[in-house]
Amino acid sequence: MDLYEHQARELFAEHGILVPRAEVTDSPKQARDIARGLGGRVVVKAQVKTGGRGKAGGVKLAADPAAAELTARQILGMHIKGHTVGKVMLAQPVDIETEFYVSYVLDRAAGRFLAIASAEGGMDIEDVAATRPEAVARVPVDPAEGVTSAKAGEIAEAAGLPPQTVDVIIRLWEGLVREDALLVEVNPLVRTRQGQILALDGKVTLDDNARFRQARWGADDVEHEDSLEAAAAAKGLNYVKLDGEVGIIGNGAGLVMSTLDVVAGCGARPANFLDIGGGASAQVMADGLSVILSDPAVKSVFVNVFGGITACDAVADGIVQALETVRLTKPLVVRLDGNNAARGRAVLDEYAHPLVQQATTMDGAAARAAELATTA
Ligand code: ADP
Ligand code: MG
Repeated sequence: MDLYEHQARELFAEHGILVPRAEVTDSPKQARDIARGLGGRVVVKAQVKTGGRGKAGGVKLAADPAAAELTARQILGMHIKGHTVGKVMLAQPVDIETEFYVSYVLDRAAGRFLAIASAEGGMDIEDVAATRPEAVARVPVDPAEGVTSAKAGEIAEAAGLPPQTVDVIIRLWEGLVREDALLVEVNPLVRTRQGQILALDGKVTLDDNARFRQARWGADDVEHEDSLEAAAAAKGLNYVKLDGEVGIIGNGAGLVMSTLDVVAGCGARPANFLDIGGGASAQVMADGLSVILSDPAVKSVFVNVFGGITACDAVADGIVQALETVRLTKPLVVRLDGNNAARGRAVLDEYAHPLVQQATTMDGAAARAAELATTA
């Protein structure tokens, strides 16, 4: 989960990194009051979970409270890279001398973190990285060792950052560890003309696997989540929306992944990924079906189950019970194989729902579901 800039700012502040005074609002009128409280001149900043806001016109200086209200009015509702601005942050303007870039990112392939830093931070960092990669230092960080003062010194030196930044480099790492982040980025980290080091913009991605420990950041996280994904998440389902028309339910991530491939191989496109896991209870089946059937793009649904510890007859019972509560509006193709497959198929045959068909092989079922989707 990504945090908004104002949340990242709060996180930095909690870990002892200096940030400008700032407040968030969704109301232009309130923006005027906030600006007054911050001394009149403010930077008005769109709160959307994407970078490049400055270049898109989502970060603007307002000279006084009246201008802050006007600017807030302009920025609220703006669309930036597919995100609609619902809130702005008003921040005290800082007298910037130099802009730096500092981040930590998980390097999955290497099994460690990477510190990325540059003395040429700011809105053009992507260009700097592309045209002059030597201006961007990359220093591996062993998570077991962490960022000691020596390591932080090494990062600062590699990037040509002043020794004053070492403290922030250490604190940023501590923030990443304590908050279970996969990425923390400060761009720009600035040195002001008064000689202070401040974080002016932040991006933080938290590890969703640690969400239970970091629930306090979650409340604000409704921006732009696909509503089907939000509904599925609320039911605890492992669901990802895709672009196609064949709804997919399977047990086990590997089986579901290959089901997507086989459906695509039959010339149709999967509408989603949904792994109902080992249990495959009636409730999970009903929840999964109701999410998939509420997707208007879905034309047919393919349930692909390989019975293991949860046998196929239990899964078939689950499907039958689910169909008692969820009204089936689209054809359902079921393939049951593995433990107790024959008994499972018999359960569905006996139920004899007009919209439910069975196939004995995965390829056959995929072809049938694809055909139903493309001819529907
Ligand atoms: P983004 O990275 O999404 O474009 P930033 O928050 O980094 O947004 O803002 C863009 C630029 O605006 C920064 O690089 C910095 O030069 C300037 N800026 C941002 N916040 C302030 C501030 N509080 N005071 C002065 N300048 C700021
Ligand atoms: Mg920035």
